[in-house]
Amino acid sequence: MIKEHILDIKQLLSAPKHIVIVPHKNPDGDALGSSLGLYHYLVSIGHQVTVISPNDYPLFLKWLPGNDAILNFELQNELALDHIEKAEVLFTLDFNALHRAGAMEIPLQKSTAIKVLIDHHQQPDDFATYIYSDVNICSTSQMIYHFFEMLNDTHSITPEIANCLYTGIMTDTGSFRFPSTTSTTHRVIADLIDKGANNSEIHNQIYDTNSYNRLQLLGRALNNLNVIPELNTAYIKLSQNDLNEFNFKKGDTEGVVNYALSVEGINFAAIFIEHPREGIVKISFRSKGEFDTNTFARNHFNGGGHVNASGGRSDLPLDETVDKFISILPSYQQNLKS
Ligand code: 5GP
Ligand code: MN
Repeated sequence: MIKEHILDIKQLLSAPKHIVIVPHKNPDGDALGSSLGLYHYLVSIGHQVTVISPNDYPLFLKWLPGNDAILNFELQNELALDHIEKAEVLFTLDFNALHRAGAMEIPLQKSTAIKVLIDHHQQPDDFATYIYSDVNICSTSQMIYHFFEMLNDTHSITPEIANCLYTGIMTDTGSFRFPSTTSTTHRVIADLIDKGANNSEIHNQIYDTNSYNRLQLLGRALNNLNVIPELNTAYIKLSQNDLNEFNFKKGDTEGVVNYALSVEGINFAAIFIEHPREGIVKISFRSKGEFDTNTFARNHFNGGGHVNASGGRSDLPLDETVDKFISILPSYQQNLKS
């Protein structure tokens, strides 16, 4: 972020403001961790702050400090709209295009608030007054830490803030194992632990608390795993029947696609999940190495994200969506080999 913009933002935050913070739809650990980390900080320096999530999110994120203060745009629509209307400053976190905020897209577009985008996804749209975008940083939560550095205010990081940012960095780096994890990430994490992040407990909350049904659904997903060795690709398909059978709850399929990517020799993996209520198939793409899932998702499945992790959607039925996927792959054969 350029120096003048930091000075502008410092000035902006020097007097109490109505502030709204928005993560992307179906927020993950990074979207909520960054939002709540920033929330606690802004409250501590005297602002009136509301975090509005476009929709619900998994139970394993609901222990985050500040969770109870989050408004759900779908369930608390009028109150949320009221806050957006009153907002003088709006932070959009962990997304690069307003449509990623789902039904909040239009109200956010209409808002006259000063908009600050902080995000690490590819190719951010030009909707914000101030943009802090860096696709080389592993997580928006790490960017919030750097944002505090730019404001010369890391000493204001409380244990609550540290727990939120740690969660976002941990989840977006696959527990510090993806290539986006750098020595800087580890230095930030070390400081967050020094400032009170309870690393072991966070890991326990996120990864070691499964329902029986979730594990059974994972079993079904692994049974549905298909491998196309000549294209170095693997995919998993989950129908609405699969989800119903195991009483699917939001978040139950989080991370499942990584099993497909872990198959020996596989560079590209996808999971297709049927969502008849919305009339779409939701897709997650993951890759190892050079294969660019962001471009693939943008070109064929209305989506986007990062080079090694993206998402998208399809309006076709589940089987036709998978057929389309399989039919596209051969044109990427060369890239898939690398
Ligand atoms: P996931 O597969 O875990 O839902 O998402 C992987 C990454 O791609 C995340 O960074 C997420 O924000 C992004 N992403 C997921 N779905 C979409 C989508 O439909 N459109 C865009 N532009 N990005 C997405
Ligand atoms: Mn993120």
